[in-house]
Amino acid sequence: MLPLLLQLPPAPLIPPELRPLTKELQRQGFQLRWEQPPKAGAYGLFESGSRTVWVHPVTFELGIGRQTLIHEAVHAAQSCPQGKLTPLGVPAPLTPLIEHEISAILWSSYHVKDRRLEQEAFSLQGQPDGANQLVKLLRQRCKPLAPIAPSSKPGAKNQAPRAQAKE
Ligand SMILES: [Zn+2]
Repeated sequence: MLPLLLQLPPAPLIPPELRPLTKELQRQGFQLRWEQPPKAGAYGLFESGSRTVWVHPVTFELGIGRQTLIHEAVHAAQSCPQGKLTPLGVPAPLTPLIEHEISAILWSSYHVKDRRLEQEAFSLQGQPDGANQLVKLLRQRCKPLAPIAPSSKPGAKNQAPRAQAKE
């Protein structure tokens, strides 16, 4: 049984076209929090350790909720499969606008410190079908959380494949 998580603040009115993305994130074991991220001045944040995506509810009032959610969801997808952020490998042209945004973010010192990762996030957030692309990418890269396998008994040797004989 899942513990009740009903103490979370209510989600803002998410545009219907974003619901497949929020559902996919949750299916892949990411937590979505519609709250002020725990970093001053940030509208959105992804924390790989806790697999949590924050989107400030005010972003939907400001009209940047979609971009903010997609941006952070890109970072979530980048964190699959192993937690360390790696590029998705999607085309992410560097336009002057994106370049400017990335510079601002790198300068602000709170965000992901990798130009390529940011480039993908800004590129997808700016595409009309960015949310749908991301649903597919999440399915490709992430696996739904499986129950944690019982760790092998202390002292048990790893079942390493038999080493090939060397000549
Ligand atoms: Zn970012």
